[in-house]
Amino acid sequence: METLLRCDVAVVGGGPAGMRAAEVVAEHGARVVLFEGKPSVGRKLLVAGRGGLNLTHSEPVERFAGRYLGGAGAERWRALLAEFGPAELRAWAAKLGVQTFVGTSGRMFPVEKQAAGLLRRWLARLRGFGVSVCSTYLWESLRPAHDPPDKARWRLRFQNGVVAEAKAVVFALGGASWPETGSNGAWVGAFQDALGVRVVPWQPANCGWEIAAPGWSEKLLAEAEGKPLKNIIVRVVGDDASTAVAGELLITRYGLEGGTLYALGPALRARPPTARRLEIDLKPQLSAAALATRLPAPVPSLLTLDAVTHHWRLAPVARLLLEYHGPGGGVAGREVWLRAVKNFSLPLAGPRPIAEAISSAGGVAWEEVDDALMLRRLPGVFLCGEMLDWEAPTGGYLLQGCFATGTRAGRGAATWKG
Ligand SMILES: Cc1cc2nc3c(=O)[nH]c(=O)nc-3n(C[C@H](O)[C@H](O)[C@H](O)COP(=O)(O)OP(=O)(O)OC[C@H]3O[C@@H](n4cnc5c(N)ncnc54)[C@H](O)[C@@H]3O)c2cc1C
Repeated sequence: METLLRCDVAVVGGGPAGMRAAEVVAEHGARVVLFEGKPSVGRKLLVAGRGGLNLTHSEPVERFAGRYLGGAGAERWRALLAEFGPAELRAWAAKLGVQTFVGTSGRMFPVEKQAAGLLRRWLARLRGFGVSVCSTYLWESLRPAHDPPDKARWRLRFQNGVVAEAKAVVFALGGASWPETGSNGAWVGAFQDALGVRVVPWQPANCGWEIAAPGWSEKLLAEAEGKPLKNIIVRVVGDDASTAVAGELLITRYGLEGGTLYALGPALRARPPTARRLEIDLKPQLSAAALATRLPAPVPSLLTLDAVTHHWRLAPVARLLLEYHGPGGGVAGREVWLRAVKNFSLPLAGPRPIAEAISSAGGVAWEEVDDALMLRRLPGVFLCGEMLDWEAPTGGYLLQGCFATGTRAGRGAATWKG
């Protein structure tokens, strides 16, 4: 005989989006069960905590909404953030007893700069609200249940053989990066094939990129692997200069990592694979004209790398890049050096695998859900978090997006009348 669990709302997926949805449902007084496939909830949140747990960003909500790409559009994000934006998230953390601070970059973190304490307190709050947490419940299928026959309910089946029935369901199954945390995108088949819901294919977001063959020279790697190129400006060749991003890049064995590259990821992915090329300004503090005046007069027809490094005060890692991947032989004319320093060009082979990415682009298409984040074709079934088709840069925008959509979906499920 199968075990049958009954509740008002079933939330499936115990990441930040699902936990927030469960919290909102419970605040409305509904009976909620949170189902998680892994033995414990919040595994990716804990991974995010290793980097300090950047919860959100302090920039004005108007600019904030424009950070989200995917099919939703800024208007929809403005409305979501108006309901649960950075100020609400900070107040939420404070109510949990988690003090936060805003760093010089405008990013907001918990003072303890990790996730374990916040997760522990959050779970205690959920249990205090009466939320039941069922872990090792891997969801497999969903179908309508008509019991009693005049009231539509949903029937969920889990891999352990348990069946749950609920008036409303919130799915928060995550994206497809870091599959070891439980968010492996394996739910796509159940939604796309069994339920007819359109899912935009996954792509890695906020990830490293491999440089094109022949790759970095071993000599460069011996001296520069794991070192950052600081105070640079990076742009995608062919894109408007206004899209250039200032910051850092890290030299890795396969290519590059770093915030500037993560921010340029959507623009790079939009280009044909053979036309993905970065241009790096290794000395953005000075224009090419200003650099030219810093050379001794009369300018020799050929200049050595030592000379330009000295006169232009190039950083050590920039110098290494020019030594091993710059003008041949380390001796060139002024114009060649200016181009190499101001427009250092690097063809890319492609992004690193999605399993390594911080987040994923793709997920359930926005036209499938209404403003309450309810699936139009499955009334009473709501979605939130990274399983929806959106992406955002690092900086706290990812978790903020999960909290905002979790709030909206939770509210919709709690007030769903059927
Ligand atoms: C290295 C790293 C660092 C990061 N740092 C930050 C940061 O500092 N700031 C920031 O904003 N974001 C950060 N993120 C991103 C952030 O962690 C995610 O955006 C967020 O966790 C997504 O939340 P979610 O609830 O949508 O999905 P997830 O957190 O992925 O949770 C989904 C849950 O659903 C469960 N699940 C999946 N399928 C099933 C099923 N069939 N049945 C039952 N349960 C299932 C999974 O086990 C998982 O627990 C980071 C991510 C990584 C990988």
